[in-house]
Amino acid sequence: MVKEKYYKVAVDGLSGSGKTTMARLAAQRLNWFYLETGSFYRALTFEVLRQKINYKDNKALGSFLAKIKIDFHWDGKKVMVYINQDDITENLRLPLVDRQVSYISEIKEVRKKIVSWQRKIAHGKNVICEGRDIGSVVFPDADLKVFVVCDLIERAKRRRKELVEKGILVSLEKVRENLRKRDRIDSVREVSPLVRVPSAIYIDTTYLTIDEAVNLLVDLIKRLVHSGEK
Ligand code: C5P
Repeated sequence: MVKEKYYKVAVDGLSGSGKTTMARLAAQRLNWFYLETGSFYRALTFEVLRQKINYKDNKALGSFLAKIKIDFHWDGKKVMVYINQDDITENLRLPLVDRQVSYISEIKEVRKKIVSWQRKIAHGKNVICEGRDIGSVVFPDADLKVFVVCDLIERAKRRRKELVEKGILVSLEKVRENLRKRDRIDSVREVSPLVRVPSAIYIDTTYLTIDEAVNLLVDLIKRLVHSGEK
């Protein structure tokens, strides 16, 4: 029996670069699994804040990590995230989470646990996996690696629009500062920093519409699958 080939596509990039929307819509079009890795770090951060865990205390963090269970669901259109069976999807992008998430993502034990969940979930599926360390750490063997960039001011405008649509009013300046800060922390941290691996293809979304960006990614994936069939 011929073993079925499953493809892994890694989409890494800066906060608010459009990588989430691109990866999600491409997965939707191709009927592939979409793994949004940032939502794990966000979910964990939300729970740390909700339970008022002192994450700088190794013991407190260790016992918190031993008990927590994050479930990630993709129904082909949208993501749902549960913590110990409680649906917390709506809380993932709260400004409070935005402000803290990069500090919690820096912790080695946190990353170890989350990366092992992510590898398990993606096993045996065609998957578009989106994040910061996918091509470098989570799936260094990915069949295709993409790195998404975009101008800071354009990213801030997009993120602010998303927040305003959810009824969260913040100034453009505040959003820009948060993005700039997260870019910095994510890029200089010791464990799994955001890096572009040499084999990753650059996509700059600054002057692209969502449709154009999604088309680019879908075309790259179709080409990949097509070359595998030959
Ligand atoms: O992609 P998103 O903006 O939702 O990610 C939120 C935060 O989670 C990032 O700023 C980063 O600190 C962390 N993250 C990470 N590694 C990933 C995905 C996200 O460290 N693979």
